[in-house]
Amino acid sequence: MTWRTYSRSSADTENIGEQLGRLINPPIVIELRSDLGGGKTTFVRGLAKGLGYSGAVTSPTFTLSREYRAKSGIKLYHFDLYRLTESGVLADQLAEAVAQPKAVVAIEWSDVATDVLPGRRLIVELQPAAGLPDERLITIDYPNQQVDLIQQLRNNLTAIKP
Ligand code: ADP
Ligand code: MG
Repeated sequence: MTWRTYSRSSADTENIGEQLGRLINPPIVIELRSDLGGGKTTFVRGLAKGLGYSGAVTSPTFTLSREYRAKSGIKLYHFDLYRLTESGVLADQLAEAVAQPKAVVAIEWSDVATDVLPGRRLIVELQPAAGLPDERLITIDYPNQQVDLIQQLRNNLTAIKP
């Protein structure tokens, strides 16, 4: 299933991530798709906040993965496989993270490791709008099991909007 919304600023994208982070129950995998600078890391920054992580969240482009301790024993794993041409040992790391019951796994540039990702995952795609540098069309693809989650997210986001 699919839900679409607009983001009009990076704060907006961060907020959508944050609201999602408040609502999600692990284990869950969130695949992020966009071109470079689309807002994937910005979304994860909000996600971390919503999960109760108060520190800084920076792009794992060079480290390939980062791990954050969030509320109630939840761990947020943030992968960015941009630099990988074959997944190798990272696929093992990713599979290990995905298998943990208290894990939220967010992954950017997952193409080299798609076979490790569960079919039941959220896919968040950010598309820029022509001529509007701060606007993104955000498309969330989600499995049947997450219908309530996405409904909640929609409700919460409309409640916040002016
Ligand atoms: P990615 O991880 O996809 O490469 P980043 O989140 O690192 O992207 O960077 C997105 C850049 O685009 C940031 O500089 C951010 O301030 C800017 N930006 C402008 N508008 C938006 C928006 N609506 N959503 C997300 N980022 C935005
Ligand atoms: Mg990024």
